[in-house]
Amino acid sequence: MSLEELYKEVILDHYRTPRNKGRLDPHDVALERNNPLCGDEIELFVRFDGDTVEGIAFEGKGCSISQASASMMTEKVEGLTAKESAALAESIKRMMAGEEEGDVDTLGDLVSLKGVVKYPVRIKCALLGWNTLLEALQEGGKG
Ligand code: ZN
Repeated sequence: MSLEELYKEVILDHYRTPRNKGRLDPHDVALERNNPLCGDEIELFVRFDGDTVEGIAFEGKGCSISQASASMMTEKVEGLTAKESAALAESIKRMMAGEEEGDVDTLGDLVSLKGVVKYPVRIKCALLGWNTLLEALQEGGKG
């Protein structure tokens, strides 16, 4: 199996069996964002314990990339501090912008999103969940 095929498998797996899908109650922040270019929708729920992302879940619909990326994001971010989560989101954004190679040791399965870089219209799909996360972290930090 080529690396590209492996990446596709990871994305399809998360699309078919999304992690942390559904509402999270109680939550500290709920944010709804969409990607009008593709019709993707994400509602993100985050619960903080002090500075830590204690719980995170999402509702949404849209293309496989947007939903799989959100699923992968929630799986990776749960248990991290807000600062670590934001750093990870920024790292993903740089990878998707082609500014960073994407380190498998740090990012794990998330490097599979890199396969999308070849399809510029899909980059917004892949980043929808991550951009929503960054906003949610900002809001959570205010309280
Ligand atoms: Zn999309």
